[in-house]
Amino acid sequence: MSHPEDRPASPFRRLPPVHALLDAPELAIAIETHGRETVLSAVRSVLEEARQAISRGEAFPVDPDSLAGKAAGRLDADRPTLRPVINATGVLLHTGLGRAPLAREAAEAVSRVAAGYCNLEFDLEHGERGRRSSGVAELLRRITGAEAAAVVNNNAGATMLALRALAIGREVVVSRGQLVEIGGSYRLPEVFEASGARLREVGTTNKTRLADYERAIGPETAALLRVHSSNYTIVGFAESVGIGPMAALARSRGVLAIDEIGSGALGPGRPPGVSGEPTVAEGIAAGADLVLCSGDKLLGGPQCGLLLGRSEVICRIEADPMMRALRVDKMTLAALEATLRIALDPSRAARGIPLWAFLSTPVDRLRERADRLAGRLREELRLDATAADSVAFVGGGSAPDEAIPSASVRVIPPLPGPSPGASEASRALRLGSPGVVCRVQGGALWFDLRAVPEDQDGEIAGAIGEVVRG
Ligand SMILES: *Cc1c(COP(=O)(O)O)cnc(C)c1O
Repeated sequence: MSHPEDRPASPFRRLPPVHALLDAPELAIAIETHGRETVLSAVRSVLEEARQAISRGEAFPVDPDSLAGKAAGRLDADRPTLRPVINATGVLLHTGLGRAPLAREAAEAVSRVAAGYCNLEFDLEHGERGRRSSGVAELLRRITGAEAAAVVNNNAGATMLALRALAIGREVVVSRGQLVEIGGSYRLPEVFEASGARLREVGTTNKTRLADYERAIGPETAALLRVHSSNYTIVGFAESVGIGPMAALARSRGVLAIDEIGSGALGPGRPPGVSGEPTVAEGIAAGADLVLCSGDKLLGGPQCGLLLGRSEVICRIEADPMMRALRVDKMTLAALEATLRIALDPSRAARGIPLWAFLSTPVDRLRERADRLAGRLREELRLDATAADSVAFVGGGSAPDEAIPSASVRVIPPLPGPSPGASEASRALRLGSPGVVCRVQGGALWFDLRAVPEDQDGEIAGAIGEVVRG
């Protein structure tokens, strides 16, 4: 019998054991962020790859540092595809970045119900089946003055559902100036087609008068619809009809008045800087039978569509089979309820709802922060960084004209390190942890602080530091 040592050493024996790799400093840190199991499986898969390469006779670096580095790289590539980013674009409701960030209370409410059971459709008092959205409906009534409310997946869903439930096979009268497109996938005429209601266009692009609506009303008419031009304005020789006169006309002719206000603050308080945007409360007070809006625009809540109006109208909507297809889940309802509790008190909303807080921050405060951050980038990273005034926007198809004074840090390339140019550096920043999305303008990187919570200034500095160090 020969002793194992007598045979030529197996090339596999040069591979370090799993535990030695797990102890490598790089992976010890990774265990803290990814958990031991995930790191272990990355290490095993790298070792397996090494064995295969060796058995094919290929060269493969088998020193612990290289193998640990490979495993760490694999973990990095295995990050969740949906992950948090810092929004330094100056666009507050950035559709690409998930529109409205939730209030802390709303995020906590989601996590409380998410992992377990909750009384979503269960009346705890009587031990019987309850209504899914009764809690938020009560809050929505209190804030807006509406008799009743329903919640669906988004405003596009709310509009389609309302048209279907209230006007399928019949006509709905809309001004030619209000046939909106909201970001490609939402065009009002197509929403009509999908709903089964017939679109009856009146007036012209720039002028529609009450008489135009009046002439269009006939036996086929189910409703008059006003749509807020959220993302464009018609100025100059222009005229449109407010929801008040439209609602009065509708009532006198026995048809419904629907107000699709889009971004809609609920009111009576609205966030600062968006004075031109309609509120739900105004629509209800003006006599609309139904008002529709998004939950993740000016309210600053979760993605959802809100339908508010007369009880009889909301009942017809809730009885439609499409309601079931568009209904929201427990997490959305939890976030919405928590947001509405804050929105009950506009002064609390200005502090507690991130979107409102961003809009309420005095520009001088942003300038101070930009100054401090720029100073830090100059001192610690030797960058050409200065504070500069900039302009932020609400975005998300809301208040297109309202330029909000803001402050930015402007970094002029080249940056030291492997990503010297503006576009290389902005790419590296996007791919970092956390990702930072900034503006590239005039060859410089602009970090607009209007939509950055103050406690993330340091994270921006850290992320830029990572890019500079490679
Ligand atoms: C944003 C908007 C919509 C679409 O709302 P979603 O919640 O994104 O579906 C529809 N109409 C108007 C006027 C809007 O501003």
